[in-house]
Amino acid sequence: MRITIFGTGYVGLVTGACLADVGHDVLCMDVDADKVARLEAGEIPIFEPGLEELVTANTASGRLRFTTDAATAVDFGVLQFIAVGTPPDEDGSADLQYVLTVAETIGRYMREFKVIVDKSTVPVGTADRVREVVAGVLEERGEALDFEVCSNPEFLKEGAAIEDFTHGARFVVGTSSERVRELMRECYAPYIRLQEKLMFMDVRAAELTKYAANAMLATKISFMNEIANLAERLGADVEQVRRGIGSDPRIGYHFIYPGCGYGGSCFPKDVRALTRTASDVHYEAQLLGAVEGVNHRQKQTLFDKLERAFDGALAGRTIALWGLAFKPNTDDMRDAPSRTLMEALWRVGARVQAYDPEAMGECRRLYGERDDLTLVDSREAAVQGADALVICTEWKVFRMVDFDWLKRQLGMPVVVDGRNLYDPETVRKAGLMYFAVGRGDSL
Ligand code: NAD
Repeated sequence: MRITIFGTGYVGLVTGACLADVGHDVLCMDVDADKVARLEAGEIPIFEPGLEELVTANTASGRLRFTTDAATAVDFGVLQFIAVGTPPDEDGSADLQYVLTVAETIGRYMREFKVIVDKSTVPVGTADRVREVVAGVLEERGEALDFEVCSNPEFLKEGAAIEDFTHGARFVVGTSSERVRELMRECYAPYIRLQEKLMFMDVRAAELTKYAANAMLATKISFMNEIANLAERLGADVEQVRRGIGSDPRIGYHFIYPGCGYGGSCFPKDVRALTRTASDVHYEAQLLGAVEGVNHRQKQTLFDKLERAFDGALAGRTIALWGLAFKPNTDDMRDAPSRTLMEALWRVGARVQAYDPEAMGECRRLYGERDDLTLVDSREAAVQGADALVICTEWKVFRMVDFDWLKRQLGMPVVVDGRNLYDPETVRKAGLMYFAVGRGDSL
């Protein structure tokens, strides 16, 4: 099948590489000429495990190509995937300008039947808007060409994107057209051994499914953080509580890890966008508001704990950070708890000395050169000469630590662990003050 993908970010590039890998002919289009040039030169602009190999192999086989030329891209595939960004607007709603620009481009250059597949996360009703834009441009051109718009939200997560795309729980397709169903079946046939994995539904239900999934996951995180904060004040260990509740199959162990709050490009913006969608239809989404509120508060807790440990005297201190990415196996720092912490530290005149296995380039890009930020190339270098250590991301490389050694590195024996990586007793035995999340020590 010939497939065009607009957008070569996390979703577009992974979708393109995976679909090429199962034998489709894929052309990826991006307006970012620099990105396309890098991709054509075999350079992958993002860190995602396994992606480089997949892109290299499929580029070499000729099944995966890149372009900045819109007309060529529209001409190429019968399926036209939209996988561009939908960042939050000022009021929290999803900014659809990139999606609608692609719709306009398709309307302008199409010369035969196309199926426009919306893979970006977009509010309910966007398929109708895309349809209107394409129809409007066709009318301007005086052309009466046939086209369909369907919703095919993406559920992959960064850090395991290829595995999620190829072995994910489901492919959701929102359409009422049998012709579209046939084409989408053909597109995903290589992945479908269980027929029920390909779920057809109404367009609006598909659009809402994506937001509902992310809002549910964010809710689990905020719920667990709420319980952790309570546990901290009640002298209970939330890790024991987690095991206690997870053993109930109605609750399950997935996604109930307490921590320093969710970040990334999806949960924060999608919870906000769904809240905004609710208010557009005059419904106050109370739970969603609370999910966001709890998360906002949780992201401040790393700083609050440090501040209390230092009796408010953080000016001039050097704080070591292990982990900058919003989660392991990615270089993405969008809305990461590490950023909330660093920015709060800088405001009070503290310095940051940080290490992350993948996100240092991203951190440099975000904050540039500054006197109060030193990026170092190992976890050892990060703690050298620092006054305290904060763990922001649960990368595997941070899991095993010689705490006697750590104690010797730190000016003050303070460890704030935003990811509950260690056994509190072991850490404290080494003479360190250990502040984790919901582990019975609320300072
Ligand atoms: P991204 O910001 O990484 O990439 C978007 C790309 O689109 C950029 O390369 C940009 O240059 C390109 N672009 C913008 N306008 C364009 C145009 N007119 N034509 C062609 N390309 C254009 O975004 P992402 O993280 O891949 O997310 C894309 C969508 O998928 C969003 O709606 C997001 O919410 C959703 N999503 C993201 C993830 C994730 O984990 N990142 C997971 C599921 C769904």
